[in-house]
Amino acid sequence: MSDILLEIRDLKKHFPVTKGLLFQETIGLVKAVDGVSYAIGVGETLGLVGESGCGKTTTMKMILMLERPTSGSIIFRGDDIQGLGGKGLQAYRKGVQAVFQDPYSSLNPRMRVGDIIAEPLVVNESLPKATVRERVQELLSLVGLRPISSDLFPHEFSGGQRQRIAIARALSLNPSLIILDEPVSALDVSIRAQIMNLLQDLQEQFGVGYMLIAHDLAAVLHLSTNVAVMYLGKIVEQATSEQLRVEPLHPYSKGLFAAALPAHPDEPREEILITGEIPSPLNPPSGCHFHPRCPFVKPICSEVEPQLLQVTTGHRVACHLYSESA
Ligand code: SF4
Repeated sequence: MSDILLEIRDLKKHFPVTKGLLFQETIGLVKAVDGVSYAIGVGETLGLVGESGCGKTTTMKMILMLERPTSGSIIFRGDDIQGLGGKGLQAYRKGVQAVFQDPYSSLNPRMRVGDIIAEPLVVNESLPKATVRERVQELLSLVGLRPISSDLFPHEFSGGQRQRIAIARALSLNPSLIILDEPVSALDVSIRAQIMNLLQDLQEQFGVGYMLIAHDLAAVLHLSTNVAVMYLGKIVEQATSEQLRVEPLHPYSKGLFAAALPAHPDEPREEILITGEIPSPLNPPSGCHFHPRCPFVKPICSEVEPQLLQVTTGHRVACHLYSESA
C-alpha cells in the first residue's frame, strides 16, 4: 500500500436499546460496528460492501464525525481525529468530503449551482469573489459541465448532471479523501458508467482517495483498490479487488459475488447461494454471526467466533475453514 491516508483501528459503535417512556431501561445493545480495522492509502479506493444493516453507513458517519465512536480510533494522516480541535479539526473537515446517493435531495434547490459549488470555499477560505468565480468555472469544467451551469438551479439538471455538481462541490476544497455513499445507485443504468469513469479520472488527476459504499458489486470491484466485506458490524473478508473478483474465500463473499457477477469461463469460481434473512443485530447468532446461513457450517462455528486472519498477502478472512485452530 502507498502512504496511509486514513486508518481505522478497532472501531466500534454500539447503540443502546431502551424500553419505557419515563424511566428508560437499557435492554440490549445493537453493535452496528463492532471492531472494524482497515486503512486507505493515498490516492486509493477502499470499497465497503455488504447487505443493508451491516454497518457500512454507521462507519461512514463516524468518519464524517456525524456519529461518535463507542471506542476505537480514526487516524487521518497520523492524527487521531477525536483529539483534533481548532485548525487541526478544520483541516480534517476540509480534507474529507462526501458525495451522497441522492443528488435530488443533497443539493439546495433554492441556490444557484455556482453558489452551491462555491459555498465550501466561501465558508472555509477568505478568497476574493473573482477567485471564487474562477474556481467554480474550473470545477464545472473538471466535471464536464458548461460554464453557464453556474447560473442555473439544480432542478434544471438531470440526475447524472446533479451528481456531477455534487462531485464539483466535494472537490472544491481539494480534499484528500471523498466518501462516496452509493454515488450512482439513484441514477439510470446508462449514466452510471459515465459517473464512475469521471470519478476514476478525477482520482488519477488529483490523487484523491475514495471510500466507496455501494450495492453494485461490479462497480465496486472496477473502482476499488481494496474491498472490505462487512456482515453484522464486522469485516468478514478483506482483499484486493482482483483477489475478490477471482477467488472470494468467505462463504458470505462467495454468495454475494456469485449473485452479482457472472463467473468468467477461464476463471471458474465456486458459486454458492445464500438463503435466509440477516439476523437481528440486537441478538446476533453466537460464534460466527453467519453460521445460520452458511452452507459450510461446522460444529465450532456456532461456538467460537473466527478472527480476521491473513491467508495470503493482502487477503484476510474471518472463517474457521481457513483457521488452523479449527
Ligand atoms: Fe461458515 Fe463457519 Fe466459516 Fe462462519 S466460520 S463462514 S459458519 S464455515
